[in-house]
This record gives sequence, structure tokens and C-alpha cells, in this order.
Amino acid sequence: MSAICDHVLTNAKVVTMQPGEAGYTVSQPCNIGIREGVITEISAKAIEAHQQFDCQGKLVTPGFIDCHTHLIFAGSRADEFEKRLQGVPYQEIAKQGGGILSTVRATRLASEQQLTESALPRLDGLIRTGVTSVEVKSGYGLTLNDEIKMLRAAKALEAHRKIRVTTTLLAAHALPPEFAGRADDYIAHVCETIIPMVAEENLATSVDVFCESIGFNLEQTERVFEAAKQHGLQIKGHTEQLSNLGGSALTARYAGLSADHIEYLDEAGVKAMARANTVATLLPGAFYFLKETQRPPIELLRQHKVPMAIATDLNPGTSPFADLTMMMNMACTLFGLTPEESLRGVTCHAAQALGYGNTRGQVQAGFDADLAIWDVTHPAEFSYFQGAPRLATRLVAGEFDHV
Ligand SMILES: [Zn+2]
Repeated sequence: MSAICDHVLTNAKVVTMQPGEAGYTVSQPCNIGIREGVITEISAKAIEAHQQFDCQGKLVTPGFIDCHTHLIFAGSRADEFEKRLQGVPYQEIAKQGGGILSTVRATRLASEQQLTESALPRLDGLIRTGVTSVEVKSGYGLTLNDEIKMLRAAKALEAHRKIRVTTTLLAAHALPPEFAGRADDYIAHVCETIIPMVAEENLATSVDVFCESIGFNLEQTERVFEAAKQHGLQIKGHTEQLSNLGGSALTARYAGLSADHIEYLDEAGVKAMARANTVATLLPGAFYFLKETQRPPIELLRQHKVPMAIATDLNPGTSPFADLTMMMNMACTLFGLTPEESLRGVTCHAAQALGYGNTRGQVQAGFDADLAIWDVTHPAEFSYFQGAPRLATRLVAGEFDHV
């Protein structure tokens, strides 16, 4: 290495999360060279650099990646949560103006700046659990202007915190009240107006659809995927959460990055995902909060070598959790993942679910210097103990959060 590094991290015990068994093994203390935001080398030998940071034998992992959130929204659904526990049926709550449409109303009323600012405490929760990249979906605006406002508010988070934000258009999240009884007309609006505008303005890299009996059917989902493909956007799906419609196989057929939720996924869907290398994103927070009983087919996903990611699904209705390591714990306790699988789920596999599998989610020369430094000795601790802060610091693109 001829050029001098910007930074070197010394005395780092690294869990690289590279493929294979060694990726989950804690290394001997070593040095990590960083130049222009990228890892240049990992070595036992001294590395020449302008600045040196002594990790004091702390554990260094790739920065964690929350690859599925609805971080941007306005309002609160705490009252609805309380009413449900007082025995008020969901239909009654919906009639009183509760449910997802209450979030849509509040989000439409909020300004872009208000949306960004109200999301910061939730983002800070994720950051405290080691997150350096977060995906944020639209889907509470459901009009061209409100969806664009949400995507801009999400991108603006990068100006307030050291974080990388990836935005996904989820205009096909719910049917807006103006289109009641006219789902096909709304899908036409999404495909002909919203997707082209979002693509043109470069406001999102992917398009997502809630493919479900209470969302959009398979045919409508395919129309959205087709429009996304025509406009050069990548594809993700909320699929097989409450029933098996075949949305995951459809996502795979469109070479989708990930199919998410997938509690009701069958073997044909698993095989389709394996062929397309589509990531299975598990969302144990929603499973827990909804008291679901149908578990995702973990054993089939293992057999067919489908990469599994884990995300918070952070949202006000079904997964009010701003804590990614808590989700790792739930993935182990509720779904039976191993701590290694759960750590891969928030690093290398989460990177793949966002289309960054070759640049993020591993500590490796040539990868982005997005790193988390921890007061942790064994990597199983991330999935094990919860609630006690143990993040020492993070680097995003080679820049320290705080030292
Ligand atoms: Zn979601």
C-alpha cells in the first residue's frame, strides 16, 4: 500500500462477517487502514496513517444495517394501543379514525422538516444499536406530493446524523381514502404518475408493494413491479405476511432484492427466491407485536441457502421498536436463528437486501469504512443481552461519530 491512510484503527479485534466460518471468528488484535472512506487493509503489521485510533482490544464489526423501516411518519398510535388493550375491537378503532389511515392523515399534515425532526429520536435509537445504514420507506403519504415529501424527509436525516439513508417508494402500501373501492385506479396512478416522477427526481432506489389480501393483489403488485423495472428502480416486496399469495415468488421473478415478512412463504416460494438470490428479510418485531403464530420457514430457507436479513420494520402500527439488536434477540428466541445468522442478518445479508452486498456489511479491503466498535467480547452478545448500551463509537464512510 503506497499512499498513506487517513485513519488507522489499532488493536482491533475484528469480526469481519465475510463469507464462511472465519467471518464470525474474533480475530487477534490487528490494524484497519482507511482511506477516502474505504477500508484499504486489515493487517497484523503497522499501517502508516495521518490519524490513529486505539480500539483497546474492543470488538469491531461492520456497521449494522436496518434494511426495512418506516421511520418517517407523524402522529402516535399509543392511544390506539391502549384502546386495544382495553378491549376495543380493531374495526371500532378503525371506525373512530384509527389504524394506518390515522398515520396517513397526520403525515399529510406535517411539513417535510417536521417529519425529519420527529424521526430523529427514533433514528438515535437505531444508531445506539450500531446502525450506520438505514432503509426508509414512504407509504403514509399516498399522494404524489406527500410521498415525495416523505422521501425527501428521509434523505434529509443524513444532514442531521452520520447515517446512510436508502429510500424506497412504497406508494402501494394502503389504498388512500380518495380511491376507496378503486384500487386499480390507484395502482394506475402509482405506475403512471408517482413512479415516473420519483425515478426522474432520483428520490428512491427501490419500489415496494404491500402484497396481501388487505393490501394489493398479485396482479396489481406485478403492474407496480413492471413500472418500477421500466424506470430503472429495484424491487422489494412486503409478501406472505398474513397469507400465501405468491408475492415472494413474483418478487423473485422480477429479480427483487428482498421479500420481507414471509411468515406464510411455501417451498415453491423459497426455491424461487433461491434461484433469484432474493434475500429473505425477517421482521420479528411485527411478528411479536401482532402475536403471530405462523413462523417463517427458517429450515427451508437454510436448506435452499436463501440469505436471511433481519430488520426492525420500525413503524407506528405493528412494530414500534427503534432497536435493531432487540430484533436479533427476537429472531433467535422467536424464529430459532443462531446468533451468527442473526449477526449476518444485520450486516452482510442486510447489505445485500439493499443492493450493497459488494460494498457494505463486511469488514474487508475495498468495502466502505462503515464500522461499529463495541464493548463486547463475544459476537453472540448482540443477540443475547439487551438494554445496556455497549456501542463505543461508529464510523460512517471513515468518519467517527464521536471519540
Ligand atoms: Zn414494513
